[in-house]
Amino acid sequence: MATGLARGAHAKGKKIAFGDGIKIRWDHHSHEVFKWNPNIAAPGRERDSCVEWIPFFKGHRIYNRQDGDRWIWNMDFSPTPGEIYLDDIERKHGKRYGSGFIIIEPQSAPWKSVAANKDWGRSKYQEVTNRLKAEGYKVHQFLSDKGSPPLSGVSPLRTESFRDAISILANASMYIGSEGGLHHAAAAVGIPAVVLFGGFIPPKVTGYPTHANLTGGAEACGSLKPCQHCRRAMEAISVDEVVEEALERL
Ligand SMILES: [Zn+2]
Repeated sequence: MATGLARGAHAKGKKIAFGDGIKIRWDHHSHEVFKWNPNIAAPGRERDSCVEWIPFFKGHRIYNRQDGDRWIWNMDFSPTPGEIYLDDIERKHGKRYGSGFIIIEPQSAPWKSVAANKDWGRSKYQEVTNRLKAEGYKVHQFLSDKGSPPLSGVSPLRTESFRDAISILANASMYIGSEGGLHHAAAAVGIPAVVLFGGFIPPKVTGYPTHANLTGGAEACGSLKPCQHCRRAMEAISVDEVVEEALERL
């Protein structure tokens, strides 16, 4: 999302400093995601004359604020697709699994307290996989130590880093899965997606109009604790709906 906020800065002779106006505040993902990005000022460049500040950093995300055990969403915010600057070696390495496949991700960040509210259910992802494979599509899933185990019948893809995953995703024909890093990455590499939002986050705030953003008809609650309303929202999204949205975009 940050790379989307910084889009176009270099062309205007600017670099975006993400921080509090005094110090550039990157987190442990920033170096990897911002690598080669000409629009973004690195820590240490705070005093450069071309710097323009955006107060977007861990603990201050612009699109939400915390109120007890829920997020309050900033409904005036909508993301611009981000950018990832891959070099030639990364781009070539990203083609090693071929192209034209679907990437499915049944659960992003299962270690977060909100995971239950973003969980559509592994058996339904399995059904989607089976149906798309029966239509002749190849379905792959990224393997990750902390993530969910691979669904049956998918090819598990081993990756070396988030950048590596993005370089592979750039060769995919679609992303299907939960709201999270990979749906933002899908927008950044310009591929279609079916994103299972449910009732936690409004698509207006973290979704992209080029994707199918499924809410089950719920208004987003922002609850960081497991929530019945979010569960009902996820239950309202059917396998048929996901498969239909996918086939329409493939
Ligand atoms: Zn809820």
